[in-house]
Amino acid sequence: MPELPEVHTITTDLNKHIKDAVITNVWFDKDFPKFAKSKVIGKKIKKATRIAKNIVIELENDLFLTIHLAMTGRVLLRKKDFPKDKWMRIVFSLEKEGKQAELRYCDMRMFGKVKLHNSENIQKLKAKYGPEITSTDLEAEEFLQRIKLKRTNVKNALLDQKLIAGLGNIYVNDALWMAQIHPETRTKDLEIEDAIILLQAAKAIIEEAINNRGSTLPDKMYVDIFGKPGNQQEFWRIYSKNTCSRCKGKVKFRKLNGRGTYFCPTCQPHAAS
Ligand SMILES: [Zn+2]
Repeated sequence: MPELPEVHTITTDLNKHIKDAVITNVWFDKDFPKFAKSKVIGKKIKKATRIAKNIVIELENDLFLTIHLAMTGRVLLRKKDFPKDKWMRIVFSLEKEGKQAELRYCDMRMFGKVKLHNSENIQKLKAKYGPEITSTDLEAEEFLQRIKLKRTNVKNALLDQKLIAGLGNIYVNDALWMAQIHPETRTKDLEIEDAIILLQAAKAIIEEAINNRGSTLPDKMYVDIFGKPGNQQEFWRIYSKNTCSRCKGKVKFRKLNGRGTYFCPTCQPHAAS
């Protein structure tokens, strides 16, 4: 499932390439939910940004197109006559400086969403999420306070986008390993020293993953808008590993709140509770 670094890569590239393009047509698959195409045809794209893992394409006249990739969604930018991609669900024909292109939303499993909003809805969407992990304003005190709002284990709290936005399962595993904190540590037992180290680790992992254009899993599902995989999977610390690269010990795996959790029992000893 694409996480923040993957969505960030998509929106940064989109902004570079489709800003100021005009939507000239929309096609959607017969199984795709009805889309009010007349609202967007003829509109110019002002910019592409994101709210947490939502891709937000701002159009003229207070219109916003949001795309959530869910499990298997892909956004591809293709030249007009590029061969059809697999699982195409909705296609926006674009024109910019006399050149034609297609913005294709493809989704194998169809859990993703493509929707239209006004700015009021966009504000509501923003309000659903906590501060972003990458935000320079997010300090350790606030980070700790927000995590502690949930009485659970630290891994589960970090995945709660209402508390802190932007951490998905892969990068939480790696950030906890980097900070040497056991994923099952109760949030009530975290001290400010832990929060400082954990916040630093999480930011470092996310920034590194952004620089590496995200992670592509063995299923090859995530690709950027040009159809290319990311590189961060080459740098995963503990996610999907058998051996700890720090102590060479055996990595433990268990399901925690339903999500695959990797940790090193030596480097991440369980905090007393
Ligand atoms: Zn270790």
